[in-house]
Amino acid sequence: VTVVEFQDRALTTVDKEFGLAVGDELRAHGVELRTGVQVEAIERQDESLLIRGSGGFSAASDLVIVVVGVRPSTELAETARVSLGARGAVHVTRAMETGVPDIYAAGDCVETYHRVLGRDVYLPLGTTAHRQGRVAGENAVGGQALFAGSTGTQVVKVFDLIVARTGLLGSEASRHDYDPLTHELETWDHKVYYPGARRLRIRLTGDKSTGRMLGAQLLGHASSEVSKRIDVCATALFHAMTVDDLNLLDLSYTPPLSSPWDPIQMAAQAWVAAWRG
Ligand SMILES: Cc1cc2nc3c(=O)[nH]c(=O)nc-3n(C[C@H](O)[C@H](O)[C@H](O)COP(=O)(O)OP(=O)(O)OC[C@H]3O[C@@H](n4cnc5c(N)ncnc54)[C@H](O)[C@@H]3O)c2cc1C
Repeated sequence: VTVVEFQDRALTTVDKEFGLAVGDELRAHGVELRTGVQVEAIERQDESLLIRGSGGFSAASDLVIVVVGVRPSTELAETARVSLGARGAVHVTRAMETGVPDIYAAGDCVETYHRVLGRDVYLPLGTTAHRQGRVAGENAVGGQALFAGSTGTQVVKVFDLIVARTGLLGSEASRHDYDPLTHELETWDHKVYYPGARRLRIRLTGDKSTGRMLGAQLLGHASSEVSKRIDVCATALFHAMTVDDLNLLDLSYTPPLSSPWDPIQMAAQAWVAAWRG
């Protein structure tokens, strides 16, 4: 398998430090990762396909999977004269109403209210589609539901590695009037005296002027409860907590699974120490 990537690393939805680690995981499992290559042509050649790209890249393959991003499909909605919003997605209120009476919309075709940014963005996810769909359905039959908003929580498994994020990356926060500080802590996922402990990397982003939590990224082994931990961070973001507030949470502990201070609390303490200098 060869992954051809236009950018300088795999998984550009997380910080470079984690994208590079994902690249290492791919290569460790025999995947060839070619970064900085723009695919320019896919041509049929005898029984196989010839892929050509920038910098003289060339490879033959039986099968090509093209994965180059997501665009809202709005043609049908536009025939009803709905208005469009963020990134050309259908503009909806938090009741999932389009501008046209009795037409509700949800999912990959609509813009999404981002709870940390307090504005609409394009953020197509299955989780979001389900929540928006429930609101749209309830309101279509006379309800009064409102979409609570997304914090962009997502998780992916790459062989034995889990990578997850919620909220904003530092680079995104800077573009939206925040003054972000991102701090990374690497620690054990559970008590090291108990067999099977693995290294877990946690990057927390908070606002330097208020201490408010803005985002979190986690990278660890499939056994390291990464998705549980990102979900704790997502809950903190939902309630606009500060990074330091993570230390107030009563999180579960037993040596095979965690520590009395959960790793995300250790990361919160490290972030606060870096913030206070
Ligand atoms: C490979 C892959 C993996 C993913 N993994 C995740 C994940 O792990 N977690 C996550 O949160 N999200 C994931 N997603 C995203 C998630 O699948 C989408 O956000 C979600 O399915 C969007 O739901 P939807 O109902 O808006 O659109 P869809 O699920 O695309 O449903 C739209 C439906 O409308 C039908 N349709 C289109 N036009 C018409 C028409 N004119 N008339 C009638 N029917 C029509 C289509 O055939 C389709 O069935 C993944 C997406 C992909 C592609």
